[in-house]
Amino acid sequence: MRKILTVLGARPQFIKASVVSHGFRQSGQFQEVLVHTGQHFDANMSDVFFDELGMSKPDHFLDIHGGGHGAMTGRMLERLEQVMQAERPDAVLVYGDTNSTLAGALAAAKLHIPVAHIEAGLRSFNMAMPEEVNRILTDRVSRWLFTPTNASTQHLVREGVAPSAIEEVGDVMYDVALHHGQRVDATGRVLQQLNLAPGAYVLATVHRAENTDHSARLRAIVDGLEVLAQKLPVVWPMHPRTRGVLQSMGRLAMLSPQLRLLDPVGYLDMVQLEKHAAVIATDSGGVQKEAFFYRVPCVTLRDETEWVELVNAGWNRLVPPVSSAAVANAVISAIGSKGQAIEPYGKGDAAIKIVNALKD
Ligand code: UDP
Repeated sequence: MRKILTVLGARPQFIKASVVSHGFRQSGQFQEVLVHTGQHFDANMSDVFFDELGMSKPDHFLDIHGGGHGAMTGRMLERLEQVMQAERPDAVLVYGDTNSTLAGALAAAKLHIPVAHIEAGLRSFNMAMPEEVNRILTDRVSRWLFTPTNASTQHLVREGVAPSAIEEVGDVMYDVALHHGQRVDATGRVLQQLNLAPGAYVLATVHRAENTDHSARLRAIVDGLEVLAQKLPVVWPMHPRTRGVLQSMGRLAMLSPQLRLLDPVGYLDMVQLEKHAAVIATDSGGVQKEAFFYRVPCVTLRDETEWVELVNAGWNRLVPPVSSAAVANAVISAIGSKGQAIEPYGKGDAAIKIVNALKD
């Protein structure tokens, strides 16, 4: 039995891990120890995914969240080192680009435990993004770099990573979509609860620091969504960070009642909302891809994206939130658009490929 220690901390990581952890269990050749750093800790940002996606409860919960990036990462590094010393895994597995990812990779590298990175090689080429720093450093210390797309593989090759360390497995989020997306309630329960007609509303999510930490950008997004809400319903499951910022700006209580603010929803409800939206406006990485999985046009409220293939194929468009009109016009004009037929995220067998690679 090989022992894998998986470090998780944020919503998209719980979702991605659901299929890989399932693969470890199915193989019968791995013991997986789950460590939850506590980066996302609310029931609707964490527990709901463990419950809905059939995951085991974490073996270690570190309860670390808040504070600056350095302070949070530092506290995680210290605690993860202790856990890794006690558990003595054969390898450490990390996902994506959060502070939990970097802390897990660094703690393992310093203990000479080999690191496997899922979603390796993604680049925005914007070093002001905390995610870009985390992913570059994590890739640098990883022994196995599992890339989701051809573009991410090419980035690593250009950076001089040994080709033998890179395996292009496809995107585990596509595996999750095939696995769990099917389970979504066909009766449209969430749509009924919210009184939404299929194909006749905008779904919005906003959480990236480049938007929440710049008041002009956040204002352009909120004002743009308010303009849209005069024309058709805008459903916005709000990330706690965004809610906190809008509250401190004094804006939360002033939002127009036409904007349908929700607390973060579970994965199955989110998929339901995505599948039936007329258009999705988002700064999330995962939601950009899910829009494509369900062939819904997407407007990405950012200056750049790591998922360039969707922009190139016409499924997604980049719209920097410079003004409310820019946001509102882009969303309206994306409705009804389609892109070219592409299949950039593999065949839904990324998790199996990862488990097989780690067996060897
Ligand atoms: N998601 C969810 N509920 C929500 C918003 C998002 O389940 O209220 C899911 C979404 O379907 C996707 C993932 O969370 O699978 C994306 O995570 P997030 O946007 O937090 O992070 P990113 O993908 O940008 O790293």
